[in-house]
Amino acid sequence: MADLQPDLEQFARRIMEDWPENGDIDGWQLQDIAVECGLLIPTTVTEPCCDDCQCSDTGFPTTCYRRCDLLRAQAVEKGLSR
Ligand SMILES: [Zn+2]
Repeated sequence: MADLQPDLEQFARRIMEDWPENGDIDGWQLQDIAVECGLLIPTTVTEPCCDDCQCSDTGFPTTCYRRCDLLRAQAVEKGLSR
């Protein structure tokens, strides 16, 4: 099943909204914004998706943040999972 289209315009606005005064976005904020804008899809999993998935480092059940189709194509090129 194809993902919904991520809202790249909203993502860009959210990333840039505090620039330049408070332009420090940490990884958690970036993740939250990416989820809100549809670039990452939180998925509840009860086992690791694969050996090198980021969710394999945690206890289960947990939330695996999976890349949307747009990001997944790039990740596959780089040899990354999910
Ligand atoms: Zn995973």
